[in-house]
Amino acid sequence: MAVGPTVYDLSREQLAELLAGEPGYRAGQVWRALWERGAWPEDMSDLPKSLRHRLGSVLCPALHEVSRSASADESTTKWLWELNDGARVETVLMLYPRRATVCVSSQAGCAMGCSFCATGQGGFTRQLSSGEIVEQVVAARRAALPRRLDNVVFMGMGEPLANYGRAWGAVERIHAHLGISARRITLSTVGVVPGIKRLAGEALPVNLAVSLHAARDELRDQLVPLNRRYPLSALMDACAGYVEARRRRLSFEWALIAGVNDTARDAAELARLALALPLPAHVNLIPLNPTPGYPERGTPPEGVAAFEESLLSQGVNVTVRDNRGTDIAAACGQLAGSAGGRPAGTSPVALGAREVPK
Ligand code: SAH
Ligand code: SF4
Repeated sequence: MAVGPTVYDLSREQLAELLAGEPGYRAGQVWRALWERGAWPEDMSDLPKSLRHRLGSVLCPALHEVSRSASADESTTKWLWELNDGARVETVLMLYPRRATVCVSSQAGCAMGCSFCATGQGGFTRQLSSGEIVEQVVAARRAALPRRLDNVVFMGMGEPLANYGRAWGAVERIHAHLGISARRITLSTVGVVPGIKRLAGEALPVNLAVSLHAARDELRDQLVPLNRRYPLSALMDACAGYVEARRRRLSFEWALIAGVNDTARDAAELARLALALPLPAHVNLIPLNPTPGYPERGTPPEGVAAFEESLLSQGVNVTVRDNRGTDIAAACGQLAGSAGGRPAGTSPVALGAREVPK
């Protein structure tokens, strides 16, 4: 299979070069068909047939659908894609009553090795290009019709700030050419400090979510190996710098793991960090979703409510996420790039989704 710049990696100039010999207006026409309609050459009925044929042979799609699954209530769709070199990634579309959100992958696999995450358990395959990320959004936007796709979250497979240039390239393209404003795009990081610092200087005001999960180094070292490189003091400095520079709140993600990070002590430590930032962080609680390689369980509902209450009583803004996608292994941390549905031991009562409240 051809491996070259994929269609959504091409700049407008590169597209024009591919159309050399055609009238000048064709490049704009094809560009709009691709970006505004997500059309593929065979659907570009306003083009002559010969040109459609030619385009079909020169434009290289990034994503080849291996499977698509929908949750029982059809509000969540998960795709498993094969890329041109055989690597596999997943994308999840979530339809809420008043908004539609796509969760994209930024890497095939992930090198960060968080113990509780199915992607981390599978290791790293490779970086995705900007076009490979963008095409996930284009596919989800098409599938969401007639609904409008409102939000993009980089919370699928991979660590976007460990693929900074390409992930940021995708943000710029989504913002500029797909009409989804930066304020509706969220990057989620496990704590890549240099990436957070770089993000603080970017022109586009995207949202930042930091996957914290523990607010003391001794515990975070175990859950998130990257903490040994960038411990909490360095991470919080970078978060404070980001908030200061952007004048925007960020959010902390916290996967609640029964008996591990859901005690009153954890809530107090988390509250201290959330409130220490120049603008207090918003906390998203995600009861741990089961994954094949991690034995612990998610905090049960009473424990989640108690943890939430404890944060609220300390003055912290908090949201508990809903349980979208667990019946198709599409919830947070369950994306493994395999065709299977529910992993062994997964219960549909497990909670978790990746919506970030505005
Ligand atoms: N690598 C980035 C983005 C992808 S992970 C990051 O870690 O932030 C997306 C979110 O899913 C993160 O908040 C991550 O901590 C969370 N997550 C991973 N495994 C999970 C699990 N088993 N249950 C619940 N959330 C999980
Ligand atoms: Fe990678 Fe995020 Fe999973 Fe950690 S939680 S292994 S950083 S995808």
